[in-house]
Amino acid sequence: MYTITIDREACDGIFACLVRDDRFAESADGLAAIEVDDEHAIAATFDDDRRESAEQAAAACPLDAITVEDAETDAPPQTLEPTEAGR
Ligand code: SF4
Repeated sequence: MYTITIDREACDGIFACLVRDDRFAESADGLAAIEVDDEHAIAATFDDDRRESAEQAAAACPLDAITVEDAETDAPPQTLEPTEAGR
């Protein structure tokens, strides 16, 4: 189990992450978000075999805005506030 976190203070919308892992998406404010169940999140925990893709996205980010780390609990995704997501 692992958690992906996007530091939106650091993210500058370059979107190198999107081509490495299709869970990354552009949110309405032009920054990256993680798509979970049709919601945009800034942090989400997964228990699947796609950690390598997430790590490739993190490595591709020129601003080091993506963190992938071990997770011990299946915390609910930290979704964007509706205003941030532009909804
Ligand atoms: S690659 Fe990094 S800076 Fe670019 S959109 Fe993704 S998280 Fe943001």
